[in-house]
Amino acid sequence: MGGARMRLHSVPLPSVEQRQRGLMDWLGQLPGPAWLTLPGREPDRHRVVVTLLHGNEPSGVRALWQLWAEPPQCAVTTHFCLANLDAALFEGGFVHRHRPGQPDMNRCFGRAGAGEAYQLTAAIAERIAELAPEAVVDLHNTSGSGPSFAVTIADTEAHRALSGLFTERMLRTRVRLGALMELTTPTTPIVTIECGGALDPASDEVARAGLTRFMALDSVLTEQPATWQLDCLYDPIRVQLMPAGKIRYRAEPVFGADLTLPPDIERLNFGWLPAHSPLGWLGERGLAALALSDGLGRPPVESLFYQAGNELRLAKDSKLFMITTNPTIALSDCLFYMVVA
Ligand SMILES: [Zn+2]
Repeated sequence: MGGARMRLHSVPLPSVEQRQRGLMDWLGQLPGPAWLTLPGREPDRHRVVVTLLHGNEPSGVRALWQLWAEPPQCAVTTHFCLANLDAALFEGGFVHRHRPGQPDMNRCFGRAGAGEAYQLTAAIAERIAELAPEAVVDLHNTSGSGPSFAVTIADTEAHRALSGLFTERMLRTRVRLGALMELTTPTTPIVTIECGGALDPASDEVARAGLTRFMALDSVLTEQPATWQLDCLYDPIRVQLMPAGKIRYRAEPVFGADLTLPPDIERLNFGWLPAHSPLGWLGERGLAALALSDGLGRPPVESLFYQAGNELRLAKDSKLFMITTNPTIALSDCLFYMVVA
């Protein structure tokens, strides 16, 4: 099973009747991963919006649902890909990042593998390569609460301009995970937009305002007369718990946990923290419970952290982001990313 379900299905914009029944109902009626197209003033140019690679990150599709009610005049032919509907619809809707037992879809691009997630990501990559769009944006929400930011693998004017349509922050990373934005080329820049937390009311508006610009503007590849200054952060380091580590989120250390972080740690997202700031509490394994990755290698944990008593402390002035308080994601993906001053 699955092969047919996992191809991209070209579907029309939702009808008035479908709109009345609502977004979830419409998503439930789709034959599978969906591809929609709106005509533009310049039909031979193309732009692509991808969203729902992660099933519990709805800001992109919610913003599109709003925009499609009265679509703006698109500058160029604009395509919309709703990817992991299987996960998005499972158990009530927007609950699961991926279907249990399936790989994370935004870890499968450019990677060889068997199964539906790899089939679909290959189909999306193929469609993008065929169209040769001038720009691709991939809309996500962060696992935790926090402000919006863009993620790219390249720091070019095109990547900065695309990021700046949506958000004030851009991360250029060396970490390669199999994400769609890693397929960026000199002629097709691709950026990830993290609109903010799925539950943050501002996130849907970040997506809506950015998509309106992405669809309507004649040029999205040159930086706009500064609506805001783009803050670029380079080479974030991914902070992970060692395999089978035990993480807890509590206001005091939990016995038996390798790491306890306070439940409100998300409030640290994107703020500068001075060296020696305590982040949480280590267990018996101490710093050995943690692992770092910068995309090139594995820097020693002691380069960024030290232990004082049972406290985990910052060795340098640092900025943390993509902090999660979801223990499943903390274990399967990472605790957070950071850059040092
Ligand atoms: Zn995501």
